[in-house]
Amino acid sequence: MNETFAMDAGAIARHYGTPAGAIDIEVVTETGSTNADLLARAAGLRRPVLRVALHQTAGRGRAGRSWLSAPGTALTFSLAWHFAGPLRELAGLPLAVGVALADALGALDVPVQLKWPNDVLRDGAKLAGVLIETQAAPSGGVWAVIGVGLNLLMPDDIEQRIGRSVAAAPWLAQMDRNALIAQLLGALAANLGQFAQDGFAPFCARWNRLHAWQGVPVVIIDRGVTLHEGVAAGVDDWGRLLLDTAAGRIAIVAGDVSLREA
Ligand code: ATP
Repeated sequence: MNETFAMDAGAIARHYGTPAGAIDIEVVTETGSTNADLLARAAGLRRPVLRVALHQTAGRGRAGRSWLSAPGTALTFSLAWHFAGPLRELAGLPLAVGVALADALGALDVPVQLKWPNDVLRDGAKLAGVLIETQAAPSGGVWAVIGVGLNLLMPDDIEQRIGRSVAAAPWLAQMDRNALIAQLLGALAANLGQFAQDGFAPFCARWNRLHAWQGVPVVIIDRGVTLHEGVAAGVDDWGRLLLDTAAGRIAIVAGDVSLREA
């Protein structure tokens, strides 16, 4: 394997500069899904864990959808993070994670935008996806497992299997991957700390500045059924999508619904 693609936990920790023991970092060559791995261990976790896979064979999206990637062409990792509050306080978390990723990518000269609730877009196509799964922590609060898939290069055969045009970031593919992961981890950790303390409200204006579909006519669909249609008007302090419909403005909770252009 090319040296640039090699990743190891010690090098990520050195780049991250974490105080020893603050976050456990692990790198595996291959696994089904880093989210599934960490969820299975959530009950026994004591500290945040970053689990990076060089290759995921069964990457997951929302509602049972798949996240596809080929070895050496993507970053696939999950971060298990403990929140003291109840699950309902995490509704805006996928959006706050989007803001954190956008900040980190922007700082690396890859400007991106966000599509509600959980996609990172580059020039209108999906560059990264976020999947958050949760589990009640035995000692109280919730473990959130925050999965991120980020395309660095996009092989034709993977794009064909995905079945739509998607984005990649060849510029980042040249970077030392340990440094890249460490930078994303740093942005995530800082923003998760703020989210734990103050919720989504401080992220709202930042998210809206990054909103890819502001003013765009859209539909909200659930398993193929159109639930609402209107014009996307950004998000509110809880991360709900504001939709200007014929009957006035409504706020949509993420759940498993999908957003499409009308
Ligand atoms: P949608 O993007 O359809 O609105 P979603 O945001 O809920 O739905 P996710 O569940 O987050 O999507 O991600 C899974 C979807 O992402 C898959 O159904 C597929 O269309 C797409 N996808 C899968 N792998 C990739 C990839 N490597 N890059 C970009 N998109 C991908």
